[in-house]
Amino acid sequence: MKFQAIKGVRDILPPDSALWNRVEQTAREVFATYGYGEIRLPIFEATELFARSIGGETDVVSKEMYTFADRPSDFLPPPTFSEIGVYIGNLKKWLEDGRIPSDVDNKLRIVSLVQAWENFSSKPQGRMLDFNDLVEVDQMGRLRDGVRIGPDLTLRPEATASVVRAYIEHGMHVRPGNVKLCYIGPMFRRERPQKGRYRQFYQIGAELLGTSDAAAIDAELLEMLLAFFERVGLKGATLYVNSIGDKNCRPAYVEKLREELRKVKDKLGPDSQRRIETNPLRVLDSKVPEEQAIIETLPRIAGNLCDACRTHYEKLKEELALRGIAYEENWRLVRGLDYYMRTTFEITAPGLGSQNAVCGGGRYDGLVELLGGPATTKGIGFAIGTDRLMLSLQEAGVGAAKGGLDVFLAWFGAAAYAAAVPLAKKLREAGVAVEVPAAEMKFGKALNLADRLGARYAVILGDEELAAKQFTVKRLGDGTQQKLGEAELVTYLRG
Ligand code: ATP
Ligand code: MG
Repeated sequence: MKFQAIKGVRDILPPDSALWNRVEQTAREVFATYGYGEIRLPIFEATELFARSIGGETDVVSKEMYTFADRPSDFLPPPTFSEIGVYIGNLKKWLEDGRIPSDVDNKLRIVSLVQAWENFSSKPQGRMLDFNDLVEVDQMGRLRDGVRIGPDLTLRPEATASVVRAYIEHGMHVRPGNVKLCYIGPMFRRERPQKGRYRQFYQIGAELLGTSDAAAIDAELLEMLLAFFERVGLKGATLYVNSIGDKNCRPAYVEKLREELRKVKDKLGPDSQRRIETNPLRVLDSKVPEEQAIIETLPRIAGNLCDACRTHYEKLKEELALRGIAYEENWRLVRGLDYYMRTTFEITAPGLGSQNAVCGGGRYDGLVELLGGPATTKGIGFAIGTDRLMLSLQEAGVGAAKGGLDVFLAWFGAAAYAAAVPLAKKLREAGVAVEVPAAEMKFGKALNLADRLGARYAVILGDEELAAKQFTVKRLGDGTQQKLGEAELVTYLRG
């Protein structure tokens, strides 16, 4: 049997992982200069948290989430048939004690199970099972498997909902000033795997929560984002911005859009047709070639913003100009998650084909209240797709800075080995990466391996070096060689 990583998930191996680490560390450093601290969040949360915040009509919630039923730790897994009678008795008791979810579905299944079991066990024992018995057993098995004995959990498809949940749970609104949090880690969505689209992917994100919705906050967040991209060496990124209004002006616009869409319904594909009723804004996001000309004729939100939203958007553009930030306006940028309002933005990068969005984000002023927190808290944030950022960097030839092997310590003879071990320890303490072969190698083989491992130096230690208390240091790039004493060697290699 040969195991492979599940479709859509992958391993990140050295030396690629060194670039990942550098990028993630750069994010922590750049974000810290803007006052952000890292929050470490759980990988799974109650399904309801995501359903509520992201919105039931979104692709993420309707079809992409990895959801499973948990069970309390002292509950055994559903038993085999021989123990099912006892198990069914327990289910009934647990339901009555409120230890397992008592929703209608669960109640119904358990009542049916109890009945089915009573019926089955009242038949004469010790006879041959007939076809009807087997059907009943099968039905009981299905009912048993359908009972939820724990809460519904979901592997996080994104982290904003978790950040807001944590903000509320820990009463962070009492902290002075704006609460600025960043996170780094894997997200999970059941999507069709392709270049730049995975089922386990990684995000670097940041969220700012506070009572002000000043456009300066939005602009500073974007400044930070671009400063980060600059620092990691991403070239050719484009920032797109838009305002999608708020609860005062968006509903009327959505209605207007819906009416116009109904008129052209026949010319749209099945996805967009469905979205006319469920989520008309999403039609603007369509990439279907035949729909593009029609979409261009639709009413635009810019002409339908209320005064407050229009002022906010104008102010945002002023603030971006003040910071010398280049951007393009894109009226069709609506984002996939329901909680966004006013400012939305996206950043694309070269070298990625059709999955070219490396970052998305926006303002979500009602989300904290929606999840049970203070109505006065507003928020804005972004999430960078690390996988795509990495692809774009690698495409552009950006590598990790220093890393890899500094020294291959080739020893010859037992006495040399006894000196090599403590020397390697000393070098490593000085931050030098050292490889010591575990068994003695022939000279030529040792130097060949040093080369193939990409070592910068070979340090040679044989009887001659021991006697002279001098190590032979060979620079593998150009083959130059010199003899150094131990103290000189440490200083030389550390530099
Ligand atoms: P897309 O339109 O590409 O599906 P999205 O709108 O679903 O993106 P968000 O939920 O806003 O994306 O997530 C922010 C960023 O996370 C995206 O811009 C992208 O870089 C990255 N991302 C989203 N889904 C995936 C995925 N399945 N694999 C890799 N990266 C992803
Ligand atoms: Mg998506």
